[in-house]
Amino acid sequence: MKQQQFVVIGLGRFGASLALELMDLGYEVLGIDRDEEVVDELSSQLTHTVTADATDEEVLKSLGIRNFDCGVVAIGNDIQMSILSTILLKELGLKTVVSKAISVLHGRALEKLGVDRVIFPERDMGVRVAHQLVSPNLLDYIEISKEYSIVELKAPSCLEGKSLSELNPRARYGCSIVALQRKQGIIIAPTAMDRLEQGDIMVVIGAKKNLEEFEEMIS
Ligand code: ADP
Repeated sequence: MKQQQFVVIGLGRFGASLALELMDLGYEVLGIDRDEEVVDELSSQLTHTVTADATDEEVLKSLGIRNFDCGVVAIGNDIQMSILSTILLKELGLKTVVSKAISVLHGRALEKLGVDRVIFPERDMGVRVAHQLVSPNLLDYIEISKEYSIVELKAPSCLEGKSLSELNPRARYGCSIVALQRKQGIIIAPTAMDRLEQGDIMVVIGAKKNLEEFEEMIS
């Protein structure tokens, strides 16, 4: 299968971190920023880098942007630039366009442009950290909709040796353990017979209020 190619526009704190992580994951990344210094700093770490204004349609065309699988507009603070480069990526026909928003209104404008996904890095990180602070066993929190989320929870020592049927989170709390991460590897869709071991991390999906009850029960 052809390796997915990403173009990241705006190599500020968020864009640079995203681009570097995609590289670490083994993908090809073209990074574009109009600030030469920013581009120089990353040029040896990304597959390609270009110093350019991402609102210049001719430049984007000459870079063959339309052939990329996914474009991420990581410009936040300059809303005008964010919107103009998002429009261009959409018009050039990229399969997937993801844009970063810094406010609710900015996000709404991006949605109206038909982007595939709007990300609110500061807001989402604030929510995740708040959950981690109040729940000692919670390692990560991902919102999948207003009602549902996925959490990663450390299995406390009092649950060691218990089978998932004994724990029975689906019947008792309305949430499901979809994976168990342990040193030896990850168990996807564990069965009722699987038993929790020391150091296990449970990946649990469910309605937020049900997950909260489950978190409380194990803390
Ligand atoms: P962060 O908060 O993640 O650092 P910023 O919005 O401050 O995000 O940074 C955005 C980056 O996008 C900056 O490096 C800036 O030079 C770049 N940028 C802004 N406008 C354009 C544009 N029209 N074309 C290319 N890069 C741009």
